Amino acid sequence: MESTKPHIALLASPGIGHLIPMLELAKRLVSNQTFKVTVFVVSTDHASIANTQLLQSPAAAAGSGDDGLLDVVLVPFVDVPDIVGPGDAMVEKLVATVLRSLPFIRTEISKMEIPPAALVVDLFGTEALGIADEFNMLKLVLIASNAWFIAVMLCSPDIDRKEIEEHVKNRTPLNIPGCKPLKFEDTFHVFSMDPNDPSYQGYIGTAIKMSLTDGILVNTWDELEPTSLKALRHTKKVPIYPIGPLVRSTGKSVPRNEIIDWLDKQPGESVIYVSFGSGGTLSAQHVIELAWGLELSQQRFLWVVRPPTENDAAGTFFTLGNGTYTNPDYLPDGFLARTQDRGLVVPMWAPQVQVLSHPSTGGFLTHCGWNSSMESIVHGVPMIAWPLYAEQKLNANMLTEDIGASIRVTTVESDGVVTREEIRSMVRKILVDHEGRNIRARCKELKISAAKAIAEGGSSYNSLSQIAEVCIQHLKTESSRA
Ligand code: UDP
Repeated sequence: MESTKPHIALLASPGIGHLIPMLELAKRLVSNQTFKVTVFVVSTDHASIANTQLLQSPAAAAGSGDDGLLDVVLVPFVDVPDIVGPGDAMVEKLVATVLRSLPFIRTEISKMEIPPAALVVDLFGTEALGIADEFNMLKLVLIASNAWFIAVMLCSPDIDRKEIEEHVKNRTPLNIPGCKPLKFEDTFHVFSMDPNDPSYQGYIGTAIKMSLTDGILVNTWDELEPTSLKALRHTKKVPIYPIGPLVRSTGKSVPRNEIIDWLDKQPGESVIYVSFGSGGTLSAQHVIELAWGLELSQQRFLWVVRPPTENDAAGTFFTLGNGTYTNPDYLPDGFLARTQDRGLVVPMWAPQVQVLSHPSTGGFLTHCGWNSSMESIVHGVPMIAWPLYAEQKLNANMLTEDIGASIRVTTVESDGVVTREEIRSMVRKILVDHEGRNIRARCKELKISAAKAIAEGGSSYNSLSQIAEVCIQHLKTESSRA
């Protein structure tokens, strides 16, 4: 039977870091606001394995189960070699994949008896907003990052070119109206590009498209980022809806696995969890330094390790828990054997939310992807920030200087290396020293603040209700026109 609930369509661009918050938004719309939601999932080969696990039972997780309020539509895989070449940036590939998926999405929406009230896209899906125009749907963007990031993006088209040049040449901070200035050390790589570079043009184009929508949903909450949110609201460019934290829950029955079994055997808050997101890899030298740093810290660790970027490590990969310790050639000789009593090294992937919610986890060495940062905060776990790419340096700055949820690694200025001594010292600071205790206490406060924001009547809950109200009003207006 057709549902009579208002309907919203969401579009997740390729990549697990985009899919996870979109699915969480879908679940929340269904469970808090009782909407019907259709999620279009665009994927590339790379992301598909991880995605399938996530997509197994999102409806059940939303509590919507048999009501059929949450539909996930996998957009047929499209290849884009004729649009982007092997040397093109990942962003171009994502955008091109979404672009090529549009005919399918348009057809699917046209088959719906009543078009959904709104289309929500993410940062790489703004090309799809034209479909919303075609079907008189509201246009919304979900930014799976923070308000400061949005403030930088939205003001970018208006920043004087000379100011950007000063920022890049003389390393002067970039002025972001109403917000903390952006230090050169934490800046976005697009600012160093020629203004005619297609990637720079794409960035500015996306910022303009975002400001022309009916609203931006952001994975943060009022108490976490009061200054940036106030600044964004003050510009009145576009309505801002802080609806975070959007984080997966572990569910009622946590599936057992070797990692959780191992964590169960460790003392409370004693393990540093080390992971660099869904795709982050380190250089060969960094992998070596990290291994030595963990070993020298003499603390317990759980490390999601990936072969380094420059090495061809194929064939050296080890299997978890088979009792034999095969030391991959990119780890120091004998590392696994020497650390087996207090360390667990897992290849490629760990059930991160389960790990962060485990009582033995005492710290998180992270690349500061925003989903990972939110997952750590929601579970009250203090972080060591080691940002790698995208907006992660901005995130690390905010987590360390403003929010007080992390300490940040220092890289050697001349070669960008994070040394083993630095890693050793950071791990001990978080797990052993007084500094770590203060940050842990702050993270526990943030955990409570996050829970309040999404609970009924909390700021993020109310923000989502406002979006629901706007959608319902829009449907009324559309039906009175018909
Ligand atoms: N993740 C995971 N296991 C891993 C690595 C990553 O479950 O071993 C999940 C993590 O929980 C987070 C997402 O993948 O939800 C990564 O998103 P994030 O924004 O932190 O970083 P990105 O991968 O986009 O750089």
